[in-house]
Amino acid sequence: MEFDDASLDFHTRDLSEKLRGVKHTKPLVIGRSVEGRPIEVRAKRERGGTLIIGGFHGDEPATIEIVRRFPPDVPGVALLPLLNPDGARRGTRYNAHGVDLNRNFEFNWHEESVEPPGPHPWSEPESRALAEFILARRPAKIVALHWALGEIDADGAQSTALAEAMWAALSESQRVPYRLRVTEPGRGQRRLEQTYVECPGSMGQWAGYAIKYPDGTQPAIITLELPYDPAMPRPDELPADHWQIVQRRWREDSAGYLAGVRPGVEKMLHAACRHEH
Ligand SMILES: [Zn+2]
Repeated sequence: MEFDDASLDFHTRDLSEKLRGVKHTKPLVIGRSVEGRPIEVRAKRERGGTLIIGGFHGDEPATIEIVRRFPPDVPGVALLPLLNPDGARRGTRYNAHGVDLNRNFEFNWHEESVEPPGPHPWSEPESRALAEFILARRPAKIVALHWALGEIDADGAQSTALAEAMWAALSESQRVPYRLRVTEPGRGQRRLEQTYVECPGSMGQWAGYAIKYPDGTQPAIITLELPYDPAMPRPDELPADHWQIVQRRWREDSAGYLAGVRPGVEKMLHAACRHEH
């Protein structure tokens, strides 16, 4: 009995105890960044529900603001506004080690990824903290916000219905700056191959294709890319300077950008929280 394998799930057990003890109003610290900044989640204590993540990349401030302002009392929601606090402090995409956290997950990790993936999967404390939190809390649905491809992107066939529920929540005019990307029937493998090449080692791939909870279920995972311009229809090919466009808009009028984007995003996030998966 002294040498049972309890230590193997030490992190999970530890986190579950923290979750049980947490006061509803106090953020839960799920880990710390390279430079020791806390990574905080607002959530009630139950398992399952919907996890909403902002600030994966430190230079995507709109994603942080939107998750920060989302009502924390929506049933089942867990809010993680800022996964990459060191990057946000610097205004950079990467963490303090110069690693792209969204290339550091184990599934389909690739050392020659275009964005720096770290020396090996899970090399970064921020990606480890998020993965451990997900495995402990077992959210049924995960939505990660990013800038600024203007799309609702579902990984895994189990995520299609969630993406469609989010799309259905939008008015026709609110759909204009977005496109919907789901695993099409009969084309799942092709879609997966495309994803392999575009973003190896991403959280979306790990959550969509690698996680299986102890009850055999898989989470539905959406990468919600905010529009580069809320008034512009989403073209098939993004303009080469879409990143410059969104950064300029944010510099000149961040309140205006948020006012244009938030109503639709909030509708999608509320729809995600209501969606039965
Ligand atoms: Zn991003």
